Amino acid sequence: MGYGDEIMASGIAKRLTSKKKIAFGDGKKIIWTKESEIIFLNNPRVAKPGDSLYDVLWEPYYRGNRNYFSSVANGRFIWNYGFQCEPGEFYFTEAEEEFGRSNAGGVVVEPHTAKFGNSHNRQWPIDRMQTVVSNINNVIQFDYGKKILEGVTPIKCTFREAAAVLKYSKAIISMHGGLQIAAAAVGLKGIIILGNFIPPNISTYHIHDNLIGYGPYCGTIDTDCDHCKESLDYISNTKVLERFSLLNV
Ligand SMILES: [Zn+2]
Repeated sequence: MGYGDEIMASGIAKRLTSKKKIAFGDGKKIIWTKESEIIFLNNPRVAKPGDSLYDVLWEPYYRGNRNYFSSVANGRFIWNYGFQCEPGEFYFTEAEEEFGRSNAGGVVVEPHTAKFGNSHNRQWPIDRMQTVVSNINNVIQFDYGKKILEGVTPIKCTFREAAAVLKYSKAIISMHGGLQIAAAAVGLKGIIILGNFIPPNISTYHIHDNLIGYGPYCGTIDTDCDHCKESLDYISNTKVLERFSLLNV
């Protein structure tokens, strides 16, 4: 999908790491997206397109073959419950580190989901996130053209710079998505509003307090799913604030 998938790949590379570089592809060709280039920058574990393929370790995780789901049937992801996501990693440049340090100490809030077919089934009501934000101090929101909540400090930057800011932040509050996955990679704790679209073993990290709803992890892609909506509605802003207070930030 986007950055998240590639950060997850960096987690796989970290686990598999050996003297050989990890080649994400089909055994013949490295298959990267434009996001791969951004996420794998300076990563010594990962083979790049154009590198020698003589002595690499192939890993069949790439766009078109994301093995956290086995298929799509009747408009739903059929999840692979055996998949366990692992924290990824970034190799920041000194300039990115400096950007992170110069925006340190906030609570990062991401009230939006990425623009994919299923995003509406993962979207917690934005007015609830506004209520949460209005009750906490020193909140940062990354500004990439979507609605900015009231009372936050917007930061315009690249995705890598955003990940560096996460590294120096106090906590994150978000739904499932690229920023949540980046937060796990840089060791930032927080509250993740997951609902019941995707199973926790595929999509969440132990460092986070992950809030689920109820019912099956349905994976409905293109249509509005009442179950997903109800499951997210079940997670109140009071509950998010209660859990947030337990983080002691
Ligand atoms: Zn659903």
